[in-house]
Amino acid sequence: MIGILLLALVFDFIVGAIGSSRKIGFFPAFLLSLLLSPIIGLIIVLCSERKSDAEFKQAMMQQAIQNQKPQPPAGEKDYKCKQCGYQSDTYTPFCPQCGAH
Ligand SMILES: [Zn+2]
Repeated sequence: MIGILLLALVFDFIVGAIGSSRKIGFFPAFLLSLLLSPIIGLIIVLCSERKSDAEFKQAMMQQAIQNQKPQPPAGEKDYKCKQCGYQSDTYTPFCPQCGAH
């Protein structure tokens, strides 16, 4: 009887080890297989996303958000009006001083 329990515990650790490389993590995977059964735990772990996949998705999302930000035109700093020489540190399509481009 103890042998079966030890064997189950070994399987729980294996499921936990697989879970550690996935989004679910070691302890949730280990606890699931301990409380339910190693087979059910293993199925849940295998359904969980791989860490690399999740990180890739996150990186793609961040890149998409960054691309959505409006890009300021080149020479944003020390913008100088050609008409009146008004200097501004932020780009404006029209000069706030004289209204020229
Ligand atoms: Zn101006």
